[in-house]
Amino acid sequence: MEKKQTINFGAGPAKLPQSVLFQAQKELMDYNGIGISVLEMSHRSSDFNKIMNTTENLLRELLSIPDNYKVMFLQGGGSAQFSAVPLNLIGLKQDRCADYLVTGTWSSKAAKEAEKYGKVNVVHPKLERYTKIPDSSSWSLTAGASYVYYCCNETVHGVEYNFTPDTHGSVLVSDMSSNFLSRPVDVSKFGLIFAGAQKNVGCAGVTVVIVREDLIGYALKDCPIVLDYKVQADNNSLYNTPPCFSIYIMGLVLEWIKNNGGVEAMETLNMKKSSMIYDIINSSNDFYVCPVDIACRSRMNVPFRVGKKEGDEALEKKFLDGASKLGMISLKGHRSVGGIRASLYNAVTVEDTLAGPFKLHAFKLNSL
Ligand code: PLP
Repeated sequence: MEKKQTINFGAGPAKLPQSVLFQAQKELMDYNGIGISVLEMSHRSSDFNKIMNTTENLLRELLSIPDNYKVMFLQGGGSAQFSAVPLNLIGLKQDRCADYLVTGTWSSKAAKEAEKYGKVNVVHPKLERYTKIPDSSSWSLTAGASYVYYCCNETVHGVEYNFTPDTHGSVLVSDMSSNFLSRPVDVSKFGLIFAGAQKNVGCAGVTVVIVREDLIGYALKDCPIVLDYKVQADNNSLYNTPPCFSIYIMGLVLEWIKNNGGVEAMETLNMKKSSMIYDIINSSNDFYVCPVDIACRSRMNVPFRVGKKEGDEALEKKFLDGASKLGMISLKGHRSVGGIRASLYNAVTVEDTLAGPFKLHAFKLNSL
């Protein structure tokens, strides 16, 4: 059946590479000639074991993950990690204190959750609006903190770190849910990285956790067993039934990334795509306004207002209706901030992006 031509700018679950969908469709009823679907496969079977190993090995290869890091495939999304991180790591030091950088909705939620398990120190003055990253010279890190936490790309606000925070020796933890594998990362600088799959590396259901081995084994005694990194690491993410199909899809996406030049090539593409949109915004004489500081504008999620700085809601509605008529979907900004947000994850092509902003731009000139 002919597929409707839709350009998906959704923030997640988001567009998947089309070749991945074709492959999954081809194998849906009969995986690798074994007569059953991955959906029906025992998580303890040798076939699933191969899927897990292939997925983990691809991830290790793409990010050059050092041998002293465990890779786990867990459930509960990024939100479960907001709890799992403090439950497992805040006890690393006696004081049970953790430093948080709060630069948007997701790090704010993570910090709030961590308060249940220890002392949380937000290292910079509270931000009135999430449109920048406070200069690192203004951070007051806690000596003896168990870890320093930040969200590498704030999906709602379009704020992305283009540097790795210097923690002066403390363990660094990052939520990379919305820019995972969009660019190279030096894993050895981190104690822990986590990422939900449904934006850049697959579908909802699985969350990757990459953690340095020496940080495992410090869970608080009340930590739920499925969130305990030691239990999950010792059981190779099979303490309980894992999200088998989501792991399989992640494996296909990782293979696609590898075949398309790896994370370096993804970075080049993502810079190109996001610049195309930011260039239109910057040259629009404030018809489009992106509130985020130029130094930390996200390559993954581009938020902007239409008509004026704080957004002309009637124009924005027209804009979204027009975009929808042109086959573009999920451009509405997050309900907490309004406006427009174009998400440009790895699977969104340069052609999609070209079609998107240029059609929108023409649309602006002709129709608004
Ligand atoms: N962290 C970031 C950066 C996100 O964008 C999201 C969701 O969009 C989450 C965490 C929460 O993920 P989940 O809905 O899978 O719990």
